[in-house]
Amino acid sequence: MLRLLLTLSLTLLLLACSSDDIPPPIVEEEAAKPKAEVVISFDDALVNSWHANRDIFNNFNVKVTFFITRFGSDIVNNPDRKVYAKFQDIVADGHEIAFHGTHHSNARTLFDDGWTFEDYYKAEIEPAMTMMKEYGLNPTTFAYPYGRDVPEWTEKLKATFARVRDFTSHSVDGEFYVRHRFYNDDFLKVGFSIDQHKLDFDELALVLDDLAQNGGTLVLATHLITESRSDNQWSISRDDLIELLSMIQNRDISIVTFKDASFH
Ligand SMILES: [Zn+2]
Repeated sequence: MLRLLLTLSLTLLLLACSSDDIPPPIVEEEAAKPKAEVVISFDDALVNSWHANRDIFNNFNVKVTFFITRFGSDIVNNPDRKVYAKFQDIVADGHEIAFHGTHHSNARTLFDDGWTFEDYYKAEIEPAMTMMKEYGLNPTTFAYPYGRDVPEWTEKLKATFARVRDFTSHSVDGEFYVRHRFYNDDFLKVGFSIDQHKLDFDELALVLDDLAQNGGTLVLATHLITESRSDNQWSISRDDLIELLSMIQNRDISIVTFKDASFH
């Protein structure tokens, strides 16, 4: 009898809890919040330094984009046989492996020297792209070396890539990251330098606040990751990288790969 009473009261309690009168939670505000994203990219073939610091990405649980150049000479056929094994670890971590040219040529210089797009494609795009595919990779995005884009060629690169990235380390009237709102091409995006000599946490904080508030995609780019701040201006230190990732995640901004960014 006691057990029956207990069962009855439990049933009544459950019925009371599952009442249809409870209104659903209001989610409108959440849904209306614009999407805020940051892409963090690393250029060239600096596998040793990236690999030595990959724990940072794993600890923050983020995927970044590596724009790879000289895949043959610097990675697969590097005299240091450990480099290719380290590269495979980076691939296994799930980061985007993107393309940054076969020989890291300056497209604008070649264009000015009279090269056609076909010359450029055969020399700079096709060889390493083919090799990367042979090694099981499938880069779908490209970053122009030196940020030296050629508009006529960019148009033709649409047949090969889903999206292309430029690069800038130039401020205009003392403004740098804030200028990302000026670039709104659907295909050619601009990566803003977070290399040591450009990295400005004060300006970044303002831009990230704006991004969290109003949405948008900010693309950042650097090269080497160093143990501490160094003489190499094209590098970011471990501590600065950690600080940057914290600043982004503390604002609930997503860190996404270049190919997965929405650019809304
Ligand atoms: Zn480069």
